[in-house]
Amino acid sequence: MKIKFIGVGSQFSGLDQYQSNMVITAPGGRKLLIDCGSDARFSLAESGMCPADLDAVYVSHLHGDHIGGLEWLALSTYFSPHPRRLTLFSEERTMASLWEHSLRGGLHCIRAKEMELEDYFLRHPVAAGGTFTWQEIRFTLCRMPHIANSAGCHDSHGLLLEAKDARIFITTDTQFVPEFIEKTAECADLIFHDCETSPVKTMVHAHYEQLRTLPAAVKSKIWLYHYQEGHPYHPAEDGFRGFVVKGQEFLVP
Ligand SMILES: [Zn+2]
Repeated sequence: MKIKFIGVGSQFSGLDQYQSNMVITAPGGRKLLIDCGSDARFSLAESGMCPADLDAVYVSHLHGDHIGGLEWLALSTYFSPHPRRLTLFSEERTMASLWEHSLRGGLHCIRAKEMELEDYFLRHPVAAGGTFTWQEIRFTLCRMPHIANSAGCHDSHGLLLEAKDARIFITTDTQFVPEFIEKTAECADLIFHDCETSPVKTMVHAHYEQLRTLPAAVKSKIWLYHYQEGHPYHPAEDGFRGFVVKGQEFLVP
């Protein structure tokens, strides 16, 4: 399979970085979009893709840089000359909230018909910590702490991808969770890790200066993404694989 980063930035990154969304291409050529932020219309096009090229989409959590392009994606596939529904994978509570709190306002009333999420997507909700299989690739959801306050938690759900001969972990948005990452590094060949590089630490993302404290053996498996440009860091000197650049592809056996 191939993992392509169509963007590597965050909500606050430079316009040309695009948001951190990825396209997984299975050996047979089918494509799964991991998160669909408000930049996706542009980032997909810059990578030579359009909604018609996609087979499925996974949603990690409900921030705009991960779901802001879903209304466009839903309408593009629904009103296509060849209408079809992409498969939508997400943790089950995230999927319910995605419709009720984010998409319903723009997608509920279309012409004379009252629409639901399943009118646009083939829903495939997954239990927290559960698995799904797409194109012979097994995906395991891992709850990642992102934002919590007295009103509740806004977790993200990272993904462990198990292909033929490789295990890849994508954190999606997460705070710094060193014990979890050290444990994950024992079984994963590569880790793509959320990495904040801004001078102001939001504490809802792992910051580079926190990630730098991980053991060398763990850092040697980590590629950093979801960063802000103009930072002073040198990942190779600190033992990381590096910062993923926009458009970078990873071939996985
Ligand atoms: Zn987020």
